[in-house]
Amino acid sequence: MSFTTDQNGYYGNYGGAYIPEMLHQNIQQLQDNYQEIISHPSFQKEYKTLLQDYAGRPSSLYFATRLSDKYGCKIYLKREDLNHTGSHKINNALGQILVAKHMGKKRIIAETGAGQHGVATATVCALMDLECVVYMGALDVKRQSPNVARMKMLGAKVVTAHSGSQTLKDATNEAIRDWINNPEDTYYLIGSVVGPHPYPDMVAKFQSIISEELQEQLMDKEATTDPHRILACIGGGSNAAGIFYHYLDNKKVQLIAAEAAGKGIDSGESAATSILGRDGIIHGSKTLLMQTPDGQITEPYSISAGLDYPGIGPLHAHLIKEKRLDVYPITDIEALEAAMELTSLEGIIPALESAHALGILPKLESKKNEIIVISLSGRGDKDMEAYQKYFKYAKKHPHEDLEKSFLFVP
Ligand SMILES: *Cc1c(COP(=O)(O)O)cnc(C)c1O
Repeated sequence: MSFTTDQNGYYGNYGGAYIPEMLHQNIQQLQDNYQEIISHPSFQKEYKTLLQDYAGRPSSLYFATRLSDKYGCKIYLKREDLNHTGSHKINNALGQILVAKHMGKKRIIAETGAGQHGVATATVCALMDLECVVYMGALDVKRQSPNVARMKMLGAKVVTAHSGSQTLKDATNEAIRDWINNPEDTYYLIGSVVGPHPYPDMVAKFQSIISEELQEQLMDKEATTDPHRILACIGGGSNAAGIFYHYLDNKKVQLIAAEAAGKGIDSGESAATSILGRDGIIHGSKTLLMQTPDGQITEPYSISAGLDYPGIGPLHAHLIKEKRLDVYPITDIEALEAAMELTSLEGIIPALESAHALGILPKLESKKNEIIVISLSGRGDKDMEAYQKYFKYAKKHPHEDLEKSFLFVP
């Protein structure tokens, strides 16, 4: 079984490049050249130097003592939250900005949900002196305002998308529209393992540094490259793809993902794509997608702006189909409780997205003496408003009431 793309950009049945004619030349050019560009020794040298000296890699692998005690196993956190700009997104943004430069592009566009990809993109554009436009849903502009301020200070133009659920999907639609209108000078810097081929493969390769480091770090600490399980959250799936990458063919390592169950998978307000999704086409690739019986894309919901997306990367759709990946739906409340648990036990405030991965822990059976690695994809600074709102509410209501009555309005 293969977990890499074929030459048309398919992982099994999923992937490909479903794009309008106007973008054909652009995408074709990228498809024909990306492998050669990114594997060239001079590119790799520049990329690795930036990862190390600019982004602060390798990110540490932290043994979480008190969290481990609580769950009776060995829990390690891969600390992507410690990267420059506060998440794993910088790994990909640095890689793609070098690709854009190589292709002679002068203008960079991007979409963003939680704002982490927007910040990472605005950052690398400042670094490389390139024009930057970031599309963001109106709801996300509101709930992730610290990141909007950062993007603006970094010199990016932030364009608000007012259509649909006013979240990531809608920002992506706007970015694609821009690209269609400016195919010549503009490079679309996609923030996850989504979009038309070659983006899913290219982004997975840039994020694969996470599992490359993990193998070495675990060898150092546990005398093995292999944990029993690896946990990560999935929005589009890039931090998961990165931490899974070098383990995909290694069946001894169980791969587990958290997806956003919002207010519950039966509530009509979730982003639980693996459970609710069917095969469809979104943003240029064939994948699992939440949709109505007649194929209209369902408006997704999650408290976490980075997971609020109705699709999933084609690699993950394939992994799920082949039963290589287990997915747990994690609700808003479960994520919030997991965030509080990590904060009080370890002194680490996680991003709401990462808190979904932590939310898997109480659901795992028989984890005695296992080594579990969790992708701590980002830090929680951007989510303080949501956390404060929740904890104020939680104080006043007993736990049993919470699941039922806590209607979080971002
Ligand atoms: C964007 C984001 C995610 C979700 O994106 P993936 O591509 O699925 O990794 C998760 N965590 C954080 C901190 C993010 O910023």
